[in-house]
Amino acid sequence: MKARLILPMLMCIFILGCITPPPPANGTACSIKSFDECAAAGYPIMESYPRQCRAPGCPTFASQKDRFDIDKDISCSEDSDCSLVDGSLGFGCCWAGACDAIDYSLEKWVAVSKAWYDAGKGAYCPSTSDCGPAPGCAVRPVNENFTAECVSGSCTKAPQPANADLQLGPKCCRECSMAYSESPVAVGPHGAWCGKFMTGAPLSGECEVYFKGNPSTVSRCGASPPQEEPPSANFTEDSCNGLLASGDMADKLNIIFLPSHHYSDMSVFASDAATFKDALLDFPFFGSREDKINVFFLAKTDGADGCYLAGNTTPACDIPAMRSMALACGFDRDRGDQLVVLFDNGAVQTPYARGEGEDNILFIGSSSPGIFVHEFSHSFGDLGDTYDGSWNNTIDPPYPNCASDTPGYTCADKWGSLIGTGSGAEQVGCFRNCHAENWYRPTQGGDVMRDLGKDYYDPVALAHMEQLMSAYE
Ligand SMILES: [Zn+2]
Repeated sequence: MKARLILPMLMCIFILGCITPPPPANGTACSIKSFDECAAAGYPIMESYPRQCRAPGCPTFASQKDRFDIDKDISCSEDSDCSLVDGSLGFGCCWAGACDAIDYSLEKWVAVSKAWYDAGKGAYCPSTSDCGPAPGCAVRPVNENFTAECVSGSCTKAPQPANADLQLGPKCCRECSMAYSESPVAVGPHGAWCGKFMTGAPLSGECEVYFKGNPSTVSRCGASPPQEEPPSANFTEDSCNGLLASGDMADKLNIIFLPSHHYSDMSVFASDAATFKDALLDFPFFGSREDKINVFFLAKTDGADGCYLAGNTTPACDIPAMRSMALACGFDRDRGDQLVVLFDNGAVQTPYARGEGEDNILFIGSSSPGIFVHEFSHSFGDLGDTYDGSWNNTIDPPYPNCASDTPGYTCADKWGSLIGTGSGAEQVGCFRNCHAENWYRPTQGGDVMRDLGKDYYDPVALAHMEQLMSAYE
């Protein structure tokens, strides 16, 4: 049944990637100037990395923030080679961020190579004369007590030592690490939020306050977790290796990474698998449930895996072949074990991914950890895309997070008990367009199924995912 639904979904992704936008209608100029404007206006975001957005009559805009993250260069030989920039704005084109308060203590302010940043601005931003007038606003410094330093050849954000208050971050992170090591709760460092878990060594008052303003997990805090995860460089070739061991496979959500035959170096694959595992756990929903998840990777390729790029872009493999490879990791399909096939983007180009719900398997390019949670939410969670589509679907939505006008499938039928919960753009209601114009999504703002930049599920998707995860101990 479901296989038939997947085709239109794939076709859509595929077409978006291949066909250039139609020219603007008579004399209509494109009024959208950037990815952020395009996304904010609700136009579809393609499942590629960097993310791209397309509005009718406009060129395709790639996310500057993603480009920034992909290319980021922090090499330096002296302090003056480095500068602190707001990475959430990408290359800060035109007047982006000009009216924001300046708070260098925020995680988004990062130290990068000044020469690289200036080159990126030159390559990706319009010239100043095309940016329009500068907005009239005063600079509002909140915390400028950080600086960019060159440490061992890498640009590094560092507190200016003059002010004792600035030492609070590192001090509180040490306290948090201590609190974590004294904690009886079985949550991994990715899911443990400083100040929020039970512990025999509570935080000092000033650090409790500090973490209210600077929320951080144990792992994000830079504290070394008490249980070191095995480095991905240490693995056994030709066999199954553990990346995250939470317990008996019978009780856990088991995720098994498999390499396509394009990988020639298993240490590259091992490191890619670790990156994808981190991407999953950095998503708070999964990070806070780390203790219910096992992750494995099979350090062995099979030339008969049937992996190829459909239409030169979309990864696909012979599914029975992948399943028998995964047996080496104890794969059990009936138990709900999940397979993730990585394609080595050092060998083949594929910015796309494909997640198939019924088969509990997804295929994804190694350079796209940024879209992993979204795709995994298709393949494991059976969630549908909630970004806008410009077509009408002839079937009723099989996904828990899309509704239609057909009795039995309406918003009230599917998520009536949640309507009105949440607030602002996250309030649950019934909003037109859920990858099809005649379908509805639960919130105006959407979640990771609408916008890859969001790190949460909307309340309807969340209830469904919580239900799925409740099957695991
Ligand atoms: Zn999708």
